[in-house]
Amino acid sequence: MIADLHTHSTASDGQYAPSELVRLAKDRGLQVLALTDHDTIDGLDEAVRTGAALGLRVLRGVELSAREYRSLHILGYGFSTAPSALTRLCAEMKAGRDQRKSRIIDFLHEKGVDISLAEVEELAGGDVIGRPHFAQVMVRRGYVQSSREAFDRYLDTDEYQRIERRKPDARACIEAIRSAGGKTSFAHPYQVKLPDDALEALVRELAGYGLDAIECYYPRHTAEQQALYLRLAEKYGLHATGGSDFHGERVKPDITLAAWELDTGWLLDQGRIV
Ligand code: AMP
Ligand code: ZN
Ligand code: FE
Ligand code: FE
Repeated sequence: MIADLHTHSTASDGQYAPSELVRLAKDRGLQVLALTDHDTIDGLDEAVRTGAALGLRVLRGVELSAREYRSLHILGYGFSTAPSALTRLCAEMKAGRDQRKSRIIDFLHEKGVDISLAEVEELAGGDVIGRPHFAQVMVRRGYVQSSREAFDRYLDTDEYQRIERRKPDARACIEAIRSAGGKTSFAHPYQVKLPDDALEALVRELAGYGLDAIECYYPRHTAEQQALYLRLAEKYGLHATGGSDFHGERVKPDITLAAWELDTGWLLDQGRIV
């Protein structure tokens, strides 16, 4: 199937509404799109409905942030959206973001970056306030040249970690998705920035919790990284997934929707697809 299994909408920190994203995917020629917003499943109904209308398979997805490393993210696919450990976890993560937003504003004010929470919330548009929303307002107000600079100088520093929200550990993320009947993939493994042997130990640990796949195909993976992740997937009996992590060009200027030939049979069976 021609697929992109990692995308974001306005339900989290993406630029396009779920219905707009599905339309873009249809225009791009995709057969399967997974919407994987950060720590929320709120955009899925709209995406699935639009997919049904346009004849594009939309796979319910989510991207959960785990506690162990800064960018240890677990992708979930094809779960039920009925109340479950997963919906409870998403509600807790949303509360954590709600409490974090004024801490971020105070942190930025201490650094002389005087942006207002009201402006960030207006730009975000929805209930989920993510760091990229703060970054975009900082660009707009001239404090930084780019979102990347906002992260490098303020929002992804060691000092920033003091005010970060509480997150579940990777095991809880995987178990919540599995308990809702979903499959899991280890997102963009390069982002945890571990040496190869430590990364392999992490993959082994996650596989022990029931991880199903590794996101081997990702625009920012080098050929060497991709080959390593494919080898690890093979060694630990995991599937390979791929996704662009598309957020819209305003959020990630260099990332477009991907159109990769992926084996999606294991994700689409058992009535998981809608
Ligand atoms: P949040 O979940 O609100 O903490 O924000 C996480 C999002 O911020 C990720 O999905 C990325 O899109 C973005 N992000 C995190 N770290 C960086 C970074 N160093 N540079 C650019 N974007 C980042
Ligand atoms: Zn994001
Ligand atoms: Fe991620
Ligand atoms: Fe993502």
